[in-house]
Amino acid sequence: MKFVFATHNAHKLKEVSLMLPDKMNILGLTDIGCMEEIPENQPTLEGNALEKARFVKNNYCYNCFSDDTGLEVEALGGRPGVFSARYAGESKSSQANMEKLLGELQGVTNRKARFRTVIALIINNEEMVFEGIAEGEIIESPRGSEGFGYDPIFVPIGYNQTFAEMPLQLKNTISHRYKAFNMLAEYLMSLNYF
Ligand code: IMP
Repeated sequence: MKFVFATHNAHKLKEVSLMLPDKMNILGLTDIGCMEEIPENQPTLEGNALEKARFVKNNYCYNCFSDDTGLEVEALGGRPGVFSARYAGESKSSQANMEKLLGELQGVTNRKARFRTVIALIINNEEMVFEGIAEGEIIESPRGSEGFGYDPIFVPIGYNQTFAEMPLQLKNTISHRYKAFNMLAEYLMSLNYF
């Protein structure tokens, strides 16, 4: 069965394809001739994920899924959340985003934070939402060079290393994204299509 993963990112497409049942034929946006940036204008991760999946379903008629992720910092009332990518501006600089966040947390003792990934699935006109969470805390200054985004300032609960200090293989077994896609995989397997 063919599914579209609403992403233009070939790396993400490959990584996610490996997490899902072998018999699923996963296509990216480029594969179906969708070259445009799908809007992400909603105020929540759920809203954005659904918006992207509905766009694909309505315009290209494929079963599809999409994801949206944010870093939610407790002391900041859940910010940057849905604005994580462009927290310090439209240039989407990870460096600038981390600096802004660390500035806001200067002198703040509650460093609790979590990454949250939401996946929206549309299959046979039914919509489903899955969520994966990685709890942890924000440290005072960046450490490590693996990964991307806020990885150098996030230490997952139960570990001493930041996401950017640990091997990618380890991050990929405890991350928010892994947990959410695992739930998607289990759900799809339970449908007995494969
Ligand atoms: P996206 O929805 O996967 O594009 O993620 C939105 C933004 O959240 C990214 O641009 C990053 O700033 C941040 N982000 C998402 N996942 C991670 C992660 O695993 N580590 C660090 N930052 C992340």
